[in-house]
Amino acid sequence: MSQSILFLAHIDESGGMLPKVAFEVFGAALDMAAQSGGDITIGLFGNDVQAAADSLASSGLRVLAVSEPELAHPRYATDATAVEAICREAAAQIIVGPATSRLLRVIAGVAHRLQGQADTHITSIDLTDGAFTAKRWFYRQRLEATIQRAARPWFLVMDAGCHEAWKGALATANVQRVAAFLTSNLQRTTFAGVRVPNTAAQTIRPDAKLLFVAGAGWCKKQADGKTHLPEAERAILNFLHSSGASLGGSKSLVDQSGENQAVLGFMTHLNQVGQTGSTPRHPKGLSTCCHGEEPHVVGWRFINERRAINLDPNCGWARGKADVLYVADAFEVITKLNALFAVKEEKRSPAVPA
Ligand SMILES: Cc1cc2nc3c(=O)[nH]c(=O)nc-3n(C[C@H](O)[C@H](O)[C@H](O)COP(=O)(O)OP(=O)(O)OC[C@H]3O[C@@H](n4cnc5c(N)ncnc54)[C@H](O)[C@@H]3O)c2cc1C
Repeated sequence: MSQSILFLAHIDESGGMLPKVAFEVFGAALDMAAQSGGDITIGLFGNDVQAAADSLASSGLRVLAVSEPELAHPRYATDATAVEAICREAAAQIIVGPATSRLLRVIAGVAHRLQGQADTHITSIDLTDGAFTAKRWFYRQRLEATIQRAARPWFLVMDAGCHEAWKGALATANVQRVAAFLTSNLQRTTFAGVRVPNTAAQTIRPDAKLLFVAGAGWCKKQADGKTHLPEAERAILNFLHSSGASLGGSKSLVDQSGENQAVLGFMTHLNQVGQTGSTPRHPKGLSTCCHGEEPHVVGWRFINERRAINLDPNCGWARGKADVLYVADAFEVITKLNALFAVKEEKRSPAVPA
């Protein structure tokens, strides 16, 4: 049975374009349409969607949009009204969108208004025996569920890093505007500003090739009987700067800052990886001064290649949880790596003699 699909996305408030995850989910939606032979429509919302629509135009698909200044910032009431209007106009059976906080906030409400059902944190969608089957993980990525639903419309919100991003040339999109009544009654919530954690450096980089994880060992007394926090901070920040890696932390390390112990100043709870932290997706991971206990390692579920540096040859990583374990002092290894990066940088842009 062919099933009509709506690919739903919003523009990134800061740049006016689609976020990277939208291109990934667009690729997944096109695969779904190719498998089922169903129609596919693009639905966009934001204050000015033309540039975003142009970035998808070479797909040749119909574009519906609510493009209004009232959508310059996320707000439940106006976003839900815009999404509802697009969904009603498209009248699709399956609606697929990227897992951004903006879309996740409204999707359950819109599904309710349209008497449909919604599933989130989807990692793949395939056609099996004529029916779409979505997958997601539960219990911190330990159980994988396979979901089919008879309800329509069925809203599926897909996580980042689960499908290759669609790439196409820029073209001019013919955007079909959809009317949505974004009345003043829907605008009682006003946008005040963005607050970010008080860190000197932007350390969480979801698109980085490498996840660099620091554990509590960086703050422990070392062979000389002393802690070396300034050296640890310098080594880690230099490494992040040179490698472009994203920074993760073990629970023990991030908890220490909450307990007012001396810690790495740039590490917050947002960096925590694991059962009670995040489960990022990166091609490679390097764990340093972290023991590799199970509640921590479940956060590495989607790291393809795992390496660890630990002084202890019997640490948790040594028990099959890392592909490669370097039994070494992380201070020495990272300092050496930073020196190699500096040499590489010097070769790329040699200093001009005075
Ligand atoms: C319900 C529950 C949920 C949890 N959720 C999480 C979670 O989400 N994320 C998480 O991380 N933890 C979680 N934990 C805690 C977890 O079990 C561990 O306690 C924690 O991960 C340990 O952190 P760590 O490895 O940084 O510290 P430690 O266990 O103290 O290990 C420090 C390591 O550093 C090494 N080291 C010291 N100096 C050096 C050096 N110079 N070079 C190399 N290595 C060095 C030591 O050999 C040691 O192995 C959870 C626990 C529970 C009970």
